Amino acid sequence: GEGLPRPEQTRVIVVANQKGGVGKTTTTVNLAASLALHGGRVLVVDLDPQGNASTALGIDHHAEVPSIYDVLVESKPLADVVQPVPDVEGLFCAPATIDLAGAEIELVSLVARESRLQRAIQSYEQPLDYILIDCPPSLGLLTVNALVAGQEVLIPIQCEYYALEGLGQLLRNVDLVRGHLNPALHVSTVLLTMYDGRTRLASQVAEEVRNHFGDEVLRTSIPRSVRISEAPSYGQTVLTYDPGSSGALSYLEAARELALRGVGVRYDPTQAHLGV
Ligand code: ADP
Ligand code: MG
Repeated sequence: GEGLPRPEQTRVIVVANQKGGVGKTTTTVNLAASLALHGGRVLVVDLDPQGNASTALGIDHHAEVPSIYDVLVESKPLADVVQPVPDVEGLFCAPATIDLAGAEIELVSLVARESRLQRAIQSYEQPLDYILIDCPPSLGLLTVNALVAGQEVLIPIQCEYYALEGLGQLLRNVDLVRGHLNPALHVSTVLLTMYDGRTRLASQVAEEVRNHFGDEVLRTSIPRSVRISEAPSYGQTVLTYDPGSSGALSYLEAARELALRGVGVRYDPTQAHLGV
């Protein structure tokens, strides 16, 4: 790969939207793989009990596998659960197992219940450029742990009716966490997913999202692509499943834009690279 400027400090990016099916997991794994292919060292933290991000990265996550549950509830070091992702150099995953479904309740009675992931990340000593946290479709203690651990929130938005509905609640939670627990937290990035520019609805929603969020919205949007939706069933990201597909190229470009913004370089869409 061509290589991109690396951030001075690890960027911890929380991928959140309490609506299900908007492309959180797809965005997490494909952006992470793209950033790794661009030369970064990247960790995906799977914080959804469904373990879809782990599956999509080809990471074993049956009930016996050491997982993010052990980190959050049993205080196991993060390094003990991180696995390298096959086929993508520089990409790692802390998997989720089904145990995590109980963590939402188990965390309630633990000390520092909101900051257990933050502590685990702070104690992780391997050098990383990015940590991407895939959140469940809810605003419970798991998502709160992610918001306390991160500096940035990335909101994937699917361009359909009611796309913005419910986001107010996420934004209020971001404000609450910023005010009480994590002053650095901010919404840095909005990404339009499953975008079909040929439909009037999609372009209307995109315009509404750009009016609402302004510069936070990446210039690059992710098209609806069958290759993107097929890749997880092969335990692969679209970047290795079909590297030349429009889906793969769009995630590579979104990753480039995200990386350039992180070092304050203005992104010029007319200079889009169609590849690594
Ligand atoms: P979430 O994590 O927000 O619930 P997912 O990432 O699991 O959402 O995506 C929901 C569904 O949409 C999945 O079946 C996924 O494969 C599919 N999907 C996501 N992004 C795209 C895309 N760009 N093109 C086609 N299908 C997509
Ligand atoms: Mg998901």
